Order: sequence, then structure tokens, then C-alpha cells
Amino acid sequence: MRPAALLLILAPALACAAERAGPAVTRIGSVDYINIEDEAARIGLRVERLGAQAILLKDGARPVAQLTEHSREMDLKGLRVFLGNPVNEKGGAFHVSLADYRLRLLPRLRPALCPPPPQPPRKIAIDPGHGGHDHGAENHALGTMEKTYTLDVASRMKRMLEAAGYEVVMTRDSDVDVPLALRAEVANRAGADLFVSIHFNSLYPNTKTTGAEVLNFPPPRQRSTDSWSMGGRDDAEPAAAPVNAFDAWNTLLAGAVHLRILDALRDGDRGEKFAHLGVLRELKCPGILVESAIISSDKESALLETSAFREKIASAVCAGIGDYAEQLRALRPEAPRAQPGPAPAAAPGAAAQRFEPTRPNGT
Ligand SMILES: [Zn+2]
Repeated sequence: MRPAALLLILAPALACAAERAGPAVTRIGSVDYINIEDEAARIGLRVERLGAQAILLKDGARPVAQLTEHSREMDLKGLRVFLGNPVNEKGGAFHVSLADYRLRLLPRLRPALCPPPPQPPRKIAIDPGHGGHDHGAENHALGTMEKTYTLDVASRMKRMLEAAGYEVVMTRDSDVDVPLALRAEVANRAGADLFVSIHFNSLYPNTKTTGAEVLNFPPPRQRSTDSWSMGGRDDAEPAAAPVNAFDAWNTLLAGAVHLRILDALRDGDRGEKFAHLGVLRELKCPGILVESAIISSDKESALLETSAFREKIASAVCAGIGDYAEQLRALRPEAPRAQPGPAPAAAPGAAAQRFEPTRPNGT
């Protein structure tokens, strides 16, 4: 038996032991941190130093995460992912916040250590952003509006997901106003198993930047990503919102969709971020908001005018949903295998084994 195969067999046992014991917590400032180097070893990962200011976590020979001192960004399986607290060095070892470890790293590196997973999705709520009087972002040069594209992509997703056997609920299927809180309520009332809100970004007066980002609701006591910008204020909330009950699975969903969008569009990785989004707050199922392109970009706004590009976006998000469902099924081996899922044609070439960051083209 090869050593790598032995490690695969031992990893779940190591992981279970680590979960029973729980990570040792140390306080840095007002935040609970854990020694990620010790913890990585406890869950069967190797740690490699990259100079004095970064470490690489490896699963066998495969790099899976790169953490940099004082940074709130990491590379996680080739994806740009923002942390809620900066990485710190203490006592000669790298530390990450307990919340980032449990809600960002574990779901993607050792999902079996997370709380029991939800059922693989059968009913999916799709939320086309904006609508009616709310145009969303606009490209004035082209005379195009975000609300038109969100409904178009969402409608394509509905067709694809229904063809794959899912039940789909739309928060709107025409050009009408829908309040943010009502969008979550539509999903909750329908008993949706997951929620995806479709949006397009805008960075006016910048017309050059391209790329995709995926947003999660922040865990309690963690700030939104943008609040760390110059002049931002600490907007952390002390209490959990309903959607925080699914934080680990929000992370898994975000990663699956993020990877598929980057692979399909190849147009820059703006990262997985946190924001206190009203459309996600009250959800009683996992949910994310996807900004797959930038309407203020000359390049992407021209692409958005083409149905081929919008079809590509819809296909990528659906493929990500399919990957997420497959990961949940793998975590529930006792569940029946005959579940719906996007057709293979919508999910070409899973790229989960790579590590190379996909982000450099984002400007
Ligand atoms: Zn929007």
C-alpha cells in the first residue's frame, strides 16, 4: 500500500479524534484564535513554511491552502478566499481565528468534521437581483441594466435545473419590484434547500476591471469584507442571523460555485467575501450571492450582451450547485444515490484537484 493511500485511510480517524478533543483556543486581541500548524497536523494535513511570512497546508503531496501573516486573504484550493480576521503569528506559529478555521477552512478541507450536513438539495430558490424600479447597476454607454441580465441568467438556470430534475422557485419571473426580505421569505415558504441570488457588479468610473466574486453572510462577530477598507467601520453583529445556522455549508456552496464560474469565464478572481446582505439574512437554508461579471467593465458588458456568455454563466452556476449537491451526498453515504443533479454536459472538467490561483487576470 502506498503511503498516500494509508494516509487517506487514517485521515478520517485522525479527524474524528481531533473533533472530539476540539482545538485549543488562544486569545489575540479580542478574537479567539487557534494554532493552525498544530491543528493542521491533528486533521491529517502537512505544514510547509514558505519563508518567514507564509505557510502552505498540504493534503498528502497536494497543496490545499496558503496562509500569509497579517493577511485576510488566502489561497484555498486555487481560489481567492477572504478570512474574517487576519492571520497572526504567535509564539513562532501561525494562528487563524477559530471562526475562520471552523467556517472557512474545515468545510473545504475536512467537511466531515463540520456539523451534520443538510439534505442534498431538491428544491432550489433562484433570485434574479433587482427588478422593477430598481434597475441595479447600469452601463450607460450601452444602455443596459443589471436587472435584465439577472432575470435572463436566472431563467436559463431554471431551465437547466428543471431539466436535471430539481424543483425551482423564482423570487421573480418578470420585471417587478421585490423587497429584499421577501426574497428570502419566498425561499423559506417554499421550503427551498438552497438559495442563489444572481447579480452583476459595478465599479464605475473604473471600466477596465473584470472578474467574479461570491458573497456569504458574515458569521456573528466578524466584519464584512469591505468594512476593512480605508474609512470602513466595524460592522460586526453580535448575534447570529438565521442564515448563520448554515455557515459551513454556505462556504461549501460558495466554493463549488466560485470554482465553476472561474473555470468557465476565466476572467479574474475577485474572491469569496462577506457582506451583511438583506437578501441572505433570514434564509432557513444555505445561500449565496453571485456577482459573476462586472457590468461597468467595457469587456464584460459587451460579453453580457451575448446570449452565449449569459448561457455560460448560468451553466457554470448550475454546475457548481451540482458539485455542492454531490459533496453533500458524499458526506451522507447512507442516502439514496438516485438524486437529481445537473447533467454532465453542464459540468465539464471538474478542476477540484488543482491549486494554481486563478486570480491574476482580475484587472
Ligand atoms: Zn446587484
